[in-house]
Amino acid sequence: MSIDIARLRANLAGVEERIAAACARAGRRRTDVTLIAVTKTVSAEVAALLPELGVINLGENRPQELWRKAAALPASIRWHMIGHLQRNKIERTLPIPSLIHAVDSERLLEAIEAEAIKQNRSIDVLLEVNVSGEASKQGFAPTALPNLSGLTRVKVRGLMTMAMLQDAERCRPTFTSLRALRDRLGLEHLSMGMSNDFEIAIEEGATFIRLGSVLFEGTASPSPSGRGVGGEG
Ligand SMILES: *Cc1c(COP(=O)(O)O)cnc(C)c1O
Repeated sequence: MSIDIARLRANLAGVEERIAAACARAGRRRTDVTLIAVTKTVSAEVAALLPELGVINLGENRPQELWRKAAALPASIRWHMIGHLQRNKIERTLPIPSLIHAVDSERLLEAIEAEAIKQNRSIDVLLEVNVSGEASKQGFAPTALPNLSGLTRVKVRGLMTMAMLQDAERCRPTFTSLRALRDRLGLEHLSMGMSNDFEIAIEEGATFIRLGSVLFEGTASPSPSGRGVGGEG
């Protein structure tokens, strides 16, 4: 499969317009919100087009895929590890991302701290919060956040959440709660908002939005040698 670059460019322009409008509605500056392109569904070749289109923050939700793409793409890219990180993958993952978004247990937080000490590096992380309290979701309960005082190499910069995959307006209370929690803790960042709810997340204070499908929809085009499967026009 190759990619329809014109469609990718158009998708990105549409997203940028929607981000700008949401920022305007909320009285925020465009520079207050960082767009992370989630490249988990596309190849490294496609991901490599994004910096040329002005998107230098890329996100992956699986460590192995992060390792693979980071090795294949320019070092100037700012990588975001947005998915669950298993402890046995910390060592190899730690040197890559500028931010680890989904630290979802005290055990993981401590393991990252230990590895960061071992590797003599600092790492920025966000705590994943299960705002809605759904049993199926990972993350800290808002009332059970970890003690951050012992950390030396791990810098907790903010909070992250996954909202419900339902209609966007129903995500708003989740985002509002996460923001209130962030403010209470005196932290800076809020990673919230995906393709179906990013405008509401921006209105509620997101500083990172993580977008996949809205950027890549319709961009798969048959390669010249292909048989026309999977093209969407
Ligand atoms: C896949 C993924 C996204 C992007 O989802 P879309 O709905 O495709 O925009 C965002 N965050 C995480 C953690 C993901 O795994």
